[in-house]
Amino acid sequence: MNVVALSGGVGGARFLRGLLGVVEPADVTIVGNVADDLELLGLRVSPDLDSILYTLTGRSDEERGWGRADESWRALDTVAELGGDAWFRLGDRDLGLHLVRTELLRAGVPLSEATARIAAAFGLEARLLPASDDPVRTFLETPAGTFPFQTWFVARGHADEVDAVHYAGAPEARPAPGVVEALAAADVVLLAPSNPYVSIGPILAVAAIREALGGRRAPCVAVSPLIGGRAVKGPADRMLARLQGGTTPSHVAACYEGLIDALVVDEADAGSLPRDVRAVVTRTLMSDADAARRLAAAALDAAGAPA
Ligand code: GDP
Ligand code: CA
Repeated sequence: MNVVALSGGVGGARFLRGLLGVVEPADVTIVGNVADDLELLGLRVSPDLDSILYTLTGRSDEERGWGRADESWRALDTVAELGGDAWFRLGDRDLGLHLVRTELLRAGVPLSEATARIAAAFGLEARLLPASDDPVRTFLETPAGTFPFQTWFVARGHADEVDAVHYAGAPEARPAPGVVEALAAADVVLLAPSNPYVSIGPILAVAAIREALGGRRAPCVAVSPLIGGRAVKGPADRMLARLQGGTTPSHVAACYEGLIDALVVDEADAGSLPRDVRAVVTRTLMSDADAARRLAAAALDAAGAPA
């Protein structure tokens, strides 16, 4: 059974870890968001791809909730001491990955190939593809101005309300090699419980990916990132409220109009199920590995492909 999963960073990665616990990892292709990527200190950082890599290969820091376990911050301390760009938290171990990635990219290796090499070295068994090798970047339009994703999210703490989201470069971006082929060969497509606007949205903004999904023969199931109308973490609920007019399952489903056959929602949201898309109600809080596996199994089941 071929499974393709579209994912952002931390929230998506937790779900993917559950997924790899219920299907053969070699049968899974992950399409990761690259619209959060940034150039910092001369390095290319791909936070969502790295969250996925770290989480799926046992390298993530579960307590902090992001980045690598057993991390230290000496390099960044020096950066700060020297008045350099230290607003984006890059740990020493994390920096090692960015050094290698950046060198590969500078040598002309595409991001997809660089990611495949890093994933292989880390022992990732699933296939991890960036949505695109071309630059796609999220920009947020807010009352205080328009900001690149990480400026809004990290530097300004996603405090600004969002009036619109733009995906610069997406219309002309080509899907990374293998993405469209994986979607065509998929038996199931899953949209992880990632932020619909800033994690899944930029993947779907790549025209050929949206087309491939629109013309799918495989069922496509999304998992809602909201529980009781609230994001477990981050700004998804506030974005939905302002951009979609609410935070019920219908509002989540509206983000994926025409693209999904079912939406997995939490028991806490069972009171207001969408009319236009099939809803599957279960517990969606991934409190531990077992809960994540059960959620992944529920999503596969909703697609008619029980694990
Ligand atoms: P990021 O790229 O690191 O910001 O992560 P994602 O976009 O992949 O995931 C962020 C989303 O994951 C947030 O909107 C959270 O509400 C959602 N999320 C995190 N943990 C859980 C969980 O246990 N269950 C559900 N349903 N959603 C979750
Ligand atoms: Ca992200």
